[in-house]
Amino acid sequence: MTNPDKGPEQYVFGSILIHLRCSNKCVFCDFRLSDSPDDLTQEQEIQLFKDTAYFYENNFTAIDVSGSEPLRYSKIIPYLHRICSMFKRVIILDPGNSLHNEQFTKDIVKTGFYNIVIPIYGSTPKVHDSCVCNPGAHGKVIKGLRNLIKYKLPDQHFELTSVFLKQNINDIPKLARFIQNEYGINSLKINAPTASEEVEGIGGKKFSDFNVPFGQIRKAIIKLADIKGMGYDFHYTPLCIFSDKELLMLMKRRGVTFFNMFYTYNLSDTKANQNTCKYVERYRAQVFHDKCDQCYLKKAEICLGVRRMHYTANKNYNYNPISKKIYAVIKPIITVMKVNQ
Ligand code: SF4
Repeated sequence: MTNPDKGPEQYVFGSILIHLRCSNKCVFCDFRLSDSPDDLTQEQEIQLFKDTAYFYENNFTAIDVSGSEPLRYSKIIPYLHRICSMFKRVIILDPGNSLHNEQFTKDIVKTGFYNIVIPIYGSTPKVHDSCVCNPGAHGKVIKGLRNLIKYKLPDQHFELTSVFLKQNINDIPKLARFIQNEYGINSLKINAPTASEEVEGIGGKKFSDFNVPFGQIRKAIIKLADIKGMGYDFHYTPLCIFSDKELLMLMKRRGVTFFNMFYTYNLSDTKANQNTCKYVERYRAQVFHDKCDQCYLKKAEICLGVRRMHYTANKNYNYNPISKKIYAVIKPIITVMKVNQ
């Protein structure tokens, strides 16, 4: 991924995945993660050190640490201390449940990470906990957020992300107001949900159990854009779900951007990661629909289509391909981001 704050310096990102059993069981999550161990095995730890060494030796300047719930790794504090001294920027992506512990948050802050990305799915425990299937998770995330705001250093950052889901779609505008009113947070990144073929029909999960059709996502985005002072990044929501008039309205709203380009983790080039890379590519794959050939964003290689699962779920959607003329006006709301380019 290129520099997330779009500053002049470009960072070369490597991705570290720490797969542990997650305390959440999100409605959209891959069933395989629930089979992960409670802590890293010796073999996984060796791989973690190999991955880290690979990025260091190949002059990567930034690292994103994700997985299922990396902050549950028993040696995460010393590991973060180490990598924060090796790379210019370390970004953590974690469900945020561990941050309810004040001392733990203080220890994490001291490692010197650059940014931490935390998902929040609802304005209330009822909504959030129903998305992550983990009673009490909302309370933990909220407490963690307070701890972060209290202890983070001025040059450290945090970001909140969410996903449009059947379980939270009516609450999403309330969520935006909640984070703004309670915490003074004025930005939210929201993804359209996705799934792999493996999730579909396995472990009792179906894409339709949590997916929201584009028609509902479109309405939610228009409501969100009405909230004064809030900015959003909408990921994997194609612009062709809006009419020209709606796109021009979104353009007038400050701080609304869309990103719709497939990118994947940039995992180390070791054999152990080959299967993960293939799996993630299938999971995030995008395809063009029937109207894409009429769209300037396809021609300009700015959009790679809709995610494969959305293609099937929105077969009858009346897409509005983007003309060159409309693109010239709405260009500022489109983020083009490729892995390390
Ligand atoms: S390329 Fe296809 S999916 Fe992307 S905005 Fe254009 S019509 Fe929509």
